[in-house]
Amino acid sequence: MIESIEQGFEQRAISETMELEPGTNRISIGYAGLSFVMTSKVRYETKLVGFDEQWMPRGTATSVEYTNLPPGEYVLQVRSRYAHSGEVGDVTEVKITLLPHFWQTLWFQLAFGAVILGFFLMALKWRLDKAKRHEAALLRLVSRKTRELEKQAKAFEKLSREDELTGLANRRAFDTWVAETFAKSKDEGTLIAIAIIDIDRFKRINDRFSHLVGDKAICIVADLLKTELSESCMVARWGGEEFTVMCENTTSEELAELCEKVRWKIQVTNCASIQYGLQITVSVGVSDSKGVSVYEKVLSQADQALFKAKKSGRNKVVNWKDIHTV
Ligand code: GH3
Ligand code: MG
Ligand code: MG
Repeated sequence: MIESIEQGFEQRAISETMELEPGTNRISIGYAGLSFVMTSKVRYETKLVGFDEQWMPRGTATSVEYTNLPPGEYVLQVRSRYAHSGEVGDVTEVKITLLPHFWQTLWFQLAFGAVILGFFLMALKWRLDKAKRHEAALLRLVSRKTRELEKQAKAFEKLSREDELTGLANRRAFDTWVAETFAKSKDEGTLIAIAIIDIDRFKRINDRFSHLVGDKAICIVADLLKTELSESCMVARWGGEEFTVMCENTTSEELAELCEKVRWKIQVTNCASIQYGLQITVSVGVSDSKGVSVYEKVLSQADQALFKAKKSGRNKVVNWKDIHTV
């Protein structure tokens, strides 16, 4: 029979079931095996179901103590027998319920786990959002830099094909364009015509006025060529005070006519606003691709015609066909 129950170090009333408050870290249960003879020979065994795996021999000890049991449901079983006897007595039981602290309850642990998981997920989301923002910022930076580089590349490309002083195409751009157009015209069986335009006695303009006035004279001629010819033909600054014009589907006679108009307009341009006494005239040589197999030949024929224009008094347009006698 159970003789005493201690919770902590306090006695409790004996009952078959007992509920222990949360935090109880010691219970001691006293028992006795009732016998009329040889009480000193009585041996005890206990088993705390829910904690012990098997019966624990207690010898002659008449109490059992448990400390720091986890919260839960237990049954303390006690039995006795005589030493050297295989026969055991009846089992006496006390049901013990050790109540948990609120933080030891399942619901609290689940809720706590959920909160921790929630925090973890929030932290993870925050990290992912931050990484995404960082990635988006990087992408923006890359696309901005790419746009800048593209803009710069276009600017360099434009610079490499454009004359700085006049804004006209430069010789490199003209050569490329003529080579391509010439090949195309040969395939299509059409003609291209080329004119070389050279400012007369330009060295004198530089010497008499200044290099700056010389530059302005170059710009006047460039502007006139642009307005008069660039819609239907390609106009370029060939170098120095020389310009080139190339027109598709055009004969040298037609281009000579266009150039004659331009030559006349340049001659009558009043340049007094730039420099008093400044008078600009140009000489022009024209040729076309009739019977020519390489475009350089058209250019060289136009150059020969220009040479003829210079030799025969300047300020005139000469068609290569008119000086070339078969
Ligand atoms: P011609 O009638 O025979 O063509 O005589 P010209 O004096 O025009 O020809 P020349 O080739 O003797 O002289 C051309 C001059 O053009 C020489 C050079 O100093 C000048 N020149 C070349 N490029 C530029 C330029 O960009 N600006 C200025 N101001 N002068 C230039
Ligand atoms: Mg020249
Ligand atoms: Mg000249």
